[in-house]
Amino acid sequence: AISGAKTHSIACIPADGIGPEVIDAGVEVLKTLSNASGSFKLDFENYDWSSETYKKTGKYIPDGGLESLKKHDAILFGAVGAPDVPDHISLWGLRLAICQPFQQYANVRPTRILRGTESPLRKASPGDLDWVIIRENSEGEYAGQGGRSHVGQPWETSTEVSIFTRHCVERLIRFAFQTAQSRPRKHLTVVTKSNAQRNGMVMWDEIAASVAKDFPEVTVEKMLVDAMTCRMVLQPQSLDTIVATNLHADILSDLAAALAGSIGIAPTSNLDPTRQNPSMFEPIHGSAFDITGKGVANPVGTFWTAAEMMKWLGEEEAAEKLMQAVEKVCENGVLTRDLGGKAGTKEVTEAVSAEIRRIY
Ligand code: ATP
Ligand code: MG
Repeated sequence: AISGAKTHSIACIPADGIGPEVIDAGVEVLKTLSNASGSFKLDFENYDWSSETYKKTGKYIPDGGLESLKKHDAILFGAVGAPDVPDHISLWGLRLAICQPFQQYANVRPTRILRGTESPLRKASPGDLDWVIIRENSEGEYAGQGGRSHVGQPWETSTEVSIFTRHCVERLIRFAFQTAQSRPRKHLTVVTKSNAQRNGMVMWDEIAASVAKDFPEVTVEKMLVDAMTCRMVLQPQSLDTIVATNLHADILSDLAAALAGSIGIAPTSNLDPTRQNPSMFEPIHGSAFDITGKGVANPVGTFWTAAEMMKWLGEEEAAEKLMQAVEKVCENGVLTRDLGGKAGTKEVTEAVSAEIRRIY
């Protein structure tokens, strides 16, 4: 044991599909990192909540489950979703059932082209694309408000109501300005659709303009979400920090992940910026049943996720070294199939672990 070293307690929820494979890989690399650095300890506890549990018990999270999660410093999440459970049930049953009560209102998605990997954009190389997308994670289009009447009739009517509250929009936009301020370029793009949606979206623009006054160093611009998709493809260098609603940022961040090379690389953090509850970290990819159990899942998304988690826990140096190791391994051509290589999950994991030991 390392005396005097800080211990971070991590809850692991591997869940479905390739989730357990990538979380195993992530835990292995994190253990290597902790041993190599000697400056912090990690304590892992596994929670086997999944679509299997749901099919057996009718619940994803057992009674008292959330309470037991609360004692951890962070949550490392795999992926949820199974072919025989409707997506809206699995999503609300596990991920959102944690995000919402834990007030993880800021969903943060860094995107860049890692050294040794390629973007589908012909002219983009590492450095040309370096973004953080901040997604509203507590309300908006995914507030779950609405209903259906006259079900099955030709005149069936359904509503899916977007909820925007000044409180939630303002805290998110403030967080986005803080993020922009902490990055070298100090540039924030506020995305809305305020030409067509004249209530909530106009309120977003107004709140952004008023919060901007508290951040004089940050340059801020407004974009409509449709124009934003073109801008991301045609002028990726012109963007840095991006803030958008739950729905818009959901879509933009999938585009971002694809532009950066593969959905298997990208991380996401569900943060409670007040730090009253543990925050949750996960690769953006889903359960990917088509490749489950084959040993070919790309663990890089989980490694980058682990680095984001360590940064949130105050271990900046370890986070940087972990990303250095990941990029070195990519440069050395140890890549999974989604990145055009031949390596399996295990090979990439061992290569990253070896690289971490070499760096320290
Ligand atoms: P969900 O419904 O939860 O989004 P999904 O099964 O649709 O899950 P995604 O994660 O969205 O799967 O990914 C789409 C496809 O991308 C997968 O079917 C898989 O082929 C590929 N993919 C996703 N993640 C990875 C990964 N980590 N490594 C390699 N390929 C991946
Ligand atoms: Mg999917």
